[in-house]
Amino acid sequence: MKSLWKKGEASRCRDELDRLVYRSRLIGQESKLCVWSGGNTSTKCEERDFLGQWKKILRVKGSGADLKTAARKDFSPLDLDKVLEAIDAQKMSEEKLASLLYSSLTDATAPRPSVESLLHAFIPKKDMNHTHPDAILSLTNTKRNREITHKVFGEELLWIPYVMSGFALAKKVAHAFEKNPQAKGALLEKHGLITWADDGKTSYDLTIEMVSRAEKYIAQCAKKKKWSGAAVATLPKPRREAFLEEFLPHLRRACSQKQRVILHYVDSPEVLKFVNSKLGPRVSQVGPATPDHMLHTKRIPLFVKGTPGKITPENLVRQVNAYAAAHEKYFWKHRKPGMLMLDPYPRVILIPGIGMVTTGKDLKSAKIAAEVYEHAISIMKGASTVDRYASLTEAQAFAMEYWALELYKLTLTPAEGEMSRQIGLVTGAAGAIGKAIAMKCARAGAHVIVADLNAQAVKKVAEEINTEVKSEKAFPCVLDVTGEKSVEAGFQTVVRTFGGIDFVVSNAGVAHVSSVEKLPLRDWNQSLAVNATGHFLIAKTAVQLMRRQQMGGAFVFIASKNVLAPGREFGAYSAAKAAETQLARILAIENGELGIRVNLINPDGVFEGSGLWERIRRSRAKTWGIAPRELEKYYQGRNLMKVPVFADDVAESVLFLVSQRSAKTTGCILTVDGGVKEAFPR
Ligand code: ZN
Repeated sequence: MKSLWKKGEASRCRDELDRLVYRSRLIGQESKLCVWSGGNTSTKCEERDFLGQWKKILRVKGSGADLKTAARKDFSPLDLDKVLEAIDAQKMSEEKLASLLYSSLTDATAPRPSVESLLHAFIPKKDMNHTHPDAILSLTNTKRNREITHKVFGEELLWIPYVMSGFALAKKVAHAFEKNPQAKGALLEKHGLITWADDGKTSYDLTIEMVSRAEKYIAQCAKKKKWSGAAVATLPKPRREAFLEEFLPHLRRACSQKQRVILHYVDSPEVLKFVNSKLGPRVSQVGPATPDHMLHTKRIPLFVKGTPGKITPENLVRQVNAYAAAHEKYFWKHRKPGMLMLDPYPRVILIPGIGMVTTGKDLKSAKIAAEVYEHAISIMKGASTVDRYASLTEAQAFAMEYWALELYKLTLTPAEGEMSRQIGLVTGAAGAIGKAIAMKCARAGAHVIVADLNAQAVKKVAEEINTEVKSEKAFPCVLDVTGEKSVEAGFQTVVRTFGGIDFVVSNAGVAHVSSVEKLPLRDWNQSLAVNATGHFLIAKTAVQLMRRQQMGGAFVFIASKNVLAPGREFGAYSAAKAAETQLARILAIENGELGIRVNLINPDGVFEGSGLWERIRRSRAKTWGIAPRELEKYYQGRNLMKVPVFADDVAESVLFLVSQRSAKTTGCILTVDGGVKEAFPR
């Protein structure tokens, strides 16, 4: 492992806290040292407290912060002398430990100090790093770990047999340090590494050095022994894709029985080698690579039995249910009074010949689970190279998985939105109404596929939405609603990317202005192709998928006030929109029993940012005998409320119709037109 330390950058730090931030970020950048909020770093310095008095302060990473993006505010200041009063205690309950840490804070707005803070306080060294490095864990998670680590590190690192993080672990490390104050750090069995020194750079260099030594040892062993042979071959890409398209909707349903989840698929070479290996089925069931991983991956993954090609979707669902039943048994075996069972369904699913599927409340957390498990794979391979992989006992793992202080980290994430865990597709998303709809749904927490004809336009819309919601929620998709193959390919991509679909907003449309006597056949055909057949192809493909995944669903068709109150010289548009309306109603009739709801929105005169209106503004104004610039006023004046209708008004109604707030509404037309009495639905 290479050092990332840059002398120039480090010398620009203005105080101890700055230097701590710099060192922490270097560690966080290297995912082989720790992943996603794992690990912690500290420094001991002098700072003024709120009364202006100099105090010895321990700055230590607060709970939940991620080292690679850590900032000054993420390091809690603790009154070191106060924390050290606890060193003589024999025992300390979790509640007392939390109270001690809270009451030692010299800044009430600082983040909650990590439970590993005591570890940093009890060692009389200025700078410390605690990490969960892949290579170190490959040595500490083995049957012969004591012997192997002694061979690699001698007495330079203290050996600390496994004990859960908290007071007891801190005491154990402090006690071992007293006996060997020359030690440069400690190895925590089945957990990780600590290094310490009287300056930050040396502590960092020690982390890199110890990890490099472990890496070297594994590489030497790998020359003599292959960690595992292959049992299965990877299926060719087209067959893997076909498998995903068929199986993922079933897998998503099976894993969503407690809470809806989003799926993420990984087929990196390392993952494929692992799922295809002879050892994979056994070694993956031994236990977690480090306690911290369980927050994202649970104790063990589901390793699917059976070879692809022979396994059926029903069989896969049965295996998921068996996994959940086993988790339930594990929970009742080890539970303490007052504990509630977590979601028992797997977060990591390994499929021989195919790859890895992970689950999460959103794509981001499914991706985090995948990243964490890729490190677990690296650790299991390393351990199997040097010896046999070993992990925590079931009871030790349970104590960590259901530990209140660890679960607290999960509560630090922002509350979920109304449409969280939902996947939707919006057509015509490059236009004003489509974009407003996608934005509204993404703001409410949904994953939204923004589909339109123009690749650049959808990419821009997706980027705009993601910037606005500060999260990866919108995904571009080039799709022509008039092409059957294009629509099918679009939904296949949606399944492979997320695992299924929950709602569809069929919005793409075109308009032509002409009296029937002068209407060219070409325009009539194009209007029917987009405004009628386009909705049919979207409806047909999406409803097939929804029926297959058996999780209900919601459709919203953007129709028009013209369906109920047609205007002159708008024949092609109104006739096609009437076809769309009847199509939607039939779709509602055919799918109600499956929990699939179908509703329509009739907007009128949405001019704001509309490309459609810009194209027909002149001709439409001519129809009404007014100047083109008076068109907005004309439409506004003809509704009962005399108000303009905006894209956002339509989006608000869409959100209502795709959300659970309209759970009992189907086959309905909702008007968004300021009130046009001729167009009242009846
Ligand atoms: Zn740790």
